[in-house]
Amino acid sequence: MKQLLLIILMLSSAGAMASKAPIGIVIHGGAGTINRDSMTPAQEQAYHAMLTHAVNQGYAVLERGGSSLDAVTAAVMVLEDSPLFNAGKGAVYTFDESHELDASIMNGRDRSAGAVAGVTNVKNPILLARAVMEKSNHVMLSGKGAEQFAKQQKLELVDNSYFNTEFRYEALKRAKQAIAPQPHQAAVPYDPAWKMGTVGAVAIDRKGNLAAATSTGGMTAKRYGRIGDAPVIGAGNFADNKSCAVSATGHGEFFIRYQVASDICARVKYQKKTAAVAAKEVMAELKAVGGDGGVIVVDSKGQLSWTFNTEGMYRALKAEGGQVISEIFAAKS
Ligand code: ASP
Repeated sequence: MKQLLLIILMLSSAGAMASKAPIGIVIHGGAGTINRDSMTPAQEQAYHAMLTHAVNQGYAVLERGGSSLDAVTAAVMVLEDSPLFNAGKGAVYTFDESHELDASIMNGRDRSAGAVAGVTNVKNPILLARAVMEKSNHVMLSGKGAEQFAKQQKLELVDNSYFNTEFRYEALKRAKQAIAPQPHQAAVPYDPAWKMGTVGAVAIDRKGNLAAATSTGGMTAKRYGRIGDAPVIGAGNFADNKSCAVSATGHGEFFIRYQVASDICARVKYQKKTAAVAAKEVMAELKAVGGDGGVIVVDSKGQLSWTFNTEGMYRALKAEGGQVISEIFAAKS
């Protein structure tokens, strides 16, 4: 099994902080396309700068007494607007050379949730997921209907070409070469180097409320309206104040089948495990059946953690009273 890294920060419960919930936020920018040897120092620096900016934007919301829901929305929007990550601007290409975006958000306070799948013209899909949660009677909208709802909600719409980037197009060409000799896409061996990426955030606010948000362009060269785990509540995203909040990245088909996000929180709730331990267990079990990826987690005590079974995962966190920690690769063993 590849290296697994886990960072746990127990927030101080001493003195003046005893009466207040500790605030904190963790974000990720996907677990794919991460190769230590092919990344230049300038690229590495650009990723760290954007991760730091995103985590700071989310943390600033929490610091001024804002909700975890607003914090995860703010952080994910920064990552969606950056071409560096596979969500919003910079989303991967479908087989047909366009972009189809998925996103979801969940409020741990009341388990309300919103999700969108296969949208092509919404600049920030996380805002649409949030509108579904707050302004509709539904949890998940897809395709044309979701776009109609976005228009009704007066969200910013863009041409699909807004999401174009040269390096994702190159990735599509490589993916198509790999797919070409196969009878069908499912027969192509899974290659995280060109298939993965997603962004997400989990947070706890001053009132102790948890929230999770996840947004993605999905997997390179996806076809037939394929939808991954990111908009599936319980698979790529989950939040419940009684247990934890999780945002995932990785091979979506596995995350759906193994209900990764809700499985982690169920272990916290019913087996009384810490979220960090539960996440590590679930990701190790997923690896054993061939599922690559990672998760970020926060539990109701404010314990922030991440774990992944790939070579790296773009990630950052900020706990109350601490500095931003931003990392890309797995620790060398
Ligand atoms: N989980 C995403 C999907 O399967 C992709 C990723 O996170 O890399 O659509």
